[in-house]
Amino acid sequence: ASTESQKDRLVTEEEWLRKWETGNIGFHKEQGHPLFQQYLDVLLNGRSGLRVFFPLCGKAVEMKWLADMGHSVVGVEVSEQALKEFFVEHNLPYCEEPVPEISGAKMLQSISGNITLYCCSIYDLSSSIVGKFDGVWDRGALVAVNPCDRQRYVSLMITLMEKNSSYLLVTVSYDPNKHKGPPFYVPESEIKSLFG
Ligand code: SAH
Repeated sequence: ASTESQKDRLVTEEEWLRKWETGNIGFHKEQGHPLFQQYLDVLLNGRSGLRVFFPLCGKAVEMKWLADMGHSVVGVEVSEQALKEFFVEHNLPYCEEPVPEISGAKMLQSISGNITLYCCSIYDLSSSIVGKFDGVWDRGALVAVNPCDRQRYVSLMITLMEKNSSYLLVTVSYDPNKHKGPPFYVPESEIKSLFG
């Protein structure tokens, strides 16, 4: 199938905020994603105390699971509502701080310190702000960014990875002429060329 029909699609930040406000969040999985369980060992590869990044995190419950296993989690999400719901729904006390390097951004952090969620656009981040990661859980992230921003997104993700990091990527496969997305259809050949 040709991905031509989706290449000019744009979803604005305002549209994403509105989805959260109106509860139009069918992408959120209260029980987590089955592929996370299935591939967790690949992500961890026997290592402990990892730093794991959740791009476009929403209120993904897998962040809580990893933190409970002793890893530290960093996420980024434009919707402050999503991030607050995450902490509230898991009964996690948190604090809020501005991020000096990013105007208008906030950092919400669990009091225990092992979950740090940035409220800003992922494009505002860099490794000098968030450091580098041993693992990435990319579900509803690459497939949610606007097709025109894909290369920029992937190039940024590469700069956030440590040498031996593992990157778990979930994509969806369907006929892009029949649905406009998101999630967008990103074929395997494109994934290969994006990540190089
Ligand atoms: N990964 C999550 C959410 C997927 S939906 C999960 O698995 O449930 C995509 C999320 O990305 C939405 O919550 C949306 O608000 C957020 N988002 C969209 N564009 C963004 C951007 N440029 N920077 C950060 N977050 C963004």
